Amino acid sequence: MMAFWTEADYDDHELVQLVHDRASGLTAIIALHSTHLGPGAGGTRFWHYAEPKDAMRDALRLSRGMSYKNAMAGLPMGGGKAVILAGQDRAKTPAMLAAFGDAVEALGGRYVTAEDVGISEADMVAVSQRTAHVSGLPVQGEGAAGGDPGPFTAMGIYHGIRAAVRHKLGKASVEGVHVAIQGTGSVGGGVARLLAKDGAKLTLSDINEDRANALADELGGEFVAADAIMSVACDVFSPNALGAILDDEGIARLEAPIVAGGANNQLARAGHGEKLAARGILYAPDYVINAGGIISVAMEYLCKRDSAPCDINEVRKRIAQIPERLEEIWRQSDATGVSPDLVADRMAQKLIGR
Ligand code: NAD
Repeated sequence: MMAFWTEADYDDHELVQLVHDRASGLTAIIALHSTHLGPGAGGTRFWHYAEPKDAMRDALRLSRGMSYKNAMAGLPMGGGKAVILAGQDRAKTPAMLAAFGDAVEALGGRYVTAEDVGISEADMVAVSQRTAHVSGLPVQGEGAAGGDPGPFTAMGIYHGIRAAVRHKLGKASVEGVHVAIQGTGSVGGGVARLLAKDGAKLTLSDINEDRANALADELGGEFVAADAIMSVACDVFSPNALGAILDDEGIARLEAPIVAGGANNQLARAGHGEKLAARGILYAPDYVINAGGIISVAMEYLCKRDSAPCDINEVRKRIAQIPERLEEIWRQSDATGVSPDLVADRMAQKLIGR
C-alpha cells in the first residue's frame, strides 16, 4: 500500500477517502484538506489516470488548492476535491454517479461537490438525486446565482488579466494587448470572448484543434498548434487547460511578461514561481485568479442551505474583487522580493489557521 501520508502533497489533510463500489464499478477519491473555515468545497474531476498514484496526487493537490482558493476568495468554506478514476473506456454511468452521490452524502456535509474537468451540469444533477451537498446545479429562475461555474471562472480571469496588464504594462485597457490562450474549453473560451469584446489581440490553441480554430474564426483571432502556444511572443500567456505546464522547460520557452490563466496547479513544483519571478514574468497565482467559479458555487450552496434568495449581482460583485486580492499579492511581492505564489500561499495558510 502506498504510504501517501509521507508525500509532500498529503500536507495534513483532514480526511482522504477511497471509494469503491463494486456494483457500479465506481472508484473515486474524496480528499478534504481543511474544514477550518466551513465545509470543504471543491469540484469532482472525471479523468483516466495512467497510475492510481497520479489520481491520488491530483486529488491531494487540488484539495489543498481549494482550501487556499476558498480562503483567499473570502468564502466561509474549507477545501476539498474528488476525483473519479475513469477506466480506459472512460465510461461514466448513472449507477457510478449515484454511488458517488451516496459517498458524498455519507460525509454528512463536510464535503460539498460541483463540476470539474470531465463532469457536466447534467452529471451534477444526477449526483444531487442522492445528496444535497452539491452545487453547480441548473439556475432556478431569472437573475438567480448558480449553474455551470465555467463562465464565472472566465469572468474572474478576465478581471485578473486586466489587473495584471495594468500592474505590469501600465495599460488601463486590454485593447490591442496580445493574449495567447492555451485551452479553449469552458474557461479559456469564455476568457477569449470577454477579451475579444475589449479589442484584445488573441492567439488560441487547443489539442482539440477544431474547437480552437472555430473560436479563432469567430473572434478574429489566430490559431496555433498546441505545442507552439507557450512560445508565442505576446503580452499575456493565459493557461486554461491542464496543470503543471510551468516547469523548467515551459518557463524557459515563455515570451510573455505576464502569466494569468485559469488552469489549476499551473506551477509544476514549488520553486517554479520563483523561476518565473527571476525571469521578470508577473504571475497571477492560479487559485486566486480562478476563484470566480467557486464564488458562484459557494454562494449557490450557502443560499440554498439557508433558504435565502441568491442574487447574481452579489456573485458578480465578489468576482470583481479578485483584482484587489491580486494587487495586494503583487504589492507585497514587489515590497519583499518573495514571489507572488509564495505570498499568496502564506496569506492563505494564515487564513486557514496553519
Ligand atoms: P474544459 O474541459 O471545458 O476545457 C479544457 C480544454 O483544454 C479542452 O478544450 C481541452 O481539449 C483542452 N486541452 C487539454 N489539454 C490541452 C493541452 N495540452 N493543450 C491545449 N489544450 C488542451 O475545462 P475547463 O472547465 O475549461 O477547465 C480548464 C482548466 O481550468 C482546468 O485546469 C480546470 O481545473 C480549471 N478550472 C476550471 C474551473 C471551472 O469553473 N470550469 C474553475 C477553476 C479552474
